[in-house]
Amino acid sequence: MASRSPVHRARKRFGQNFLRDPGVISRIVRAVGPRVGDRLVEIGPGQGALTEPLLEAAGGHLEVIELDRDLIPGLRVQFFDKPGFVIHEGDALKVDFRALRGDGAALRVVGNLPYNISTPLIVHLLEAGDAVADMHFMLQKEVVERLAAVPGGPDWGRLSVMAQYHCRVDALFTVPPEAFVPRPRVESAIVRLTPHHALPHAARDEGLLFTLVREAFGQRRKTLRNNLKGRIDAATLESLEIDPGRRPQTLSVEEFVRIANHLAAAGQGEAP
Ligand code: SAM
Repeated sequence: MASRSPVHRARKRFGQNFLRDPGVISRIVRAVGPRVGDRLVEIGPGQGALTEPLLEAAGGHLEVIELDRDLIPGLRVQFFDKPGFVIHEGDALKVDFRALRGDGAALRVVGNLPYNISTPLIVHLLEAGDAVADMHFMLQKEVVERLAAVPGGPDWGRLSVMAQYHCRVDALFTVPPEAFVPRPRVESAIVRLTPHHALPHAARDEGLLFTLVREAFGQRRKTLRNNLKGRIDAATLESLEIDPGRRPQTLSVEEFVRIANHLAAAGQGEAP
């Protein structure tokens, strides 16, 4: 195998911080635990730091999606002798993951993600439903804390509710800036997202649920009584066994779904 190209200058606009720490790399690969027969997809392979061990562990089958076209020739050279290695050149945000899955096994998605696209990309993947079996991502530590937050805690917000509505979230371990070249300014962390096979608390109208959540967290200091004025009154909240004096950041996923399902049953599908 040829070594990685030494001449590529990391590009800020593509969020390029390349992993260099072999201990961190093998810890990530162990956390993913690829098996022969897995349909593994890596987003942003860069110079192949994770790609090589993932490919090996998955028995020579791996698909990658890379936006920076200057990195593609290096990947082709590095993995020229791996027929099960497939490169999709382009923006992962525009990939139709349901179509990529096709009739095959659900996808296992892995990536040391560019921080500027991590939230929209996770939302995009959550919207792909059962096309995705699980995801392992390196993200800014703050984003992992928001994904894995608990109701009532300081990090609980829209992203936490959306992620935990769809998935089980496991914050795995942190990664220091020294593990990368160039070093990012912030700490990073690895998170595992495992979409639920069957939603524990299903919303009748998911659009309405997420509109409600957005409205609720728009004014997180207000009580629900004031915050959801015009949508639901205090007496109805009480009938749903939710104290109208609570603040939105104390509500669990199940409680948000309870309110949304009441509104959906009452025929309130759109913003008031
Ligand atoms: N996986 C490599 C590693 O760990 O060293 C590179 C990680 S680097 C933080 C992010 C990678 O994602 C870069 O290779 C970058 O070019 C690529 N990238 C950036 N935006 C992307 C997008 N929208 N779709 C696919 N890849 C993207």
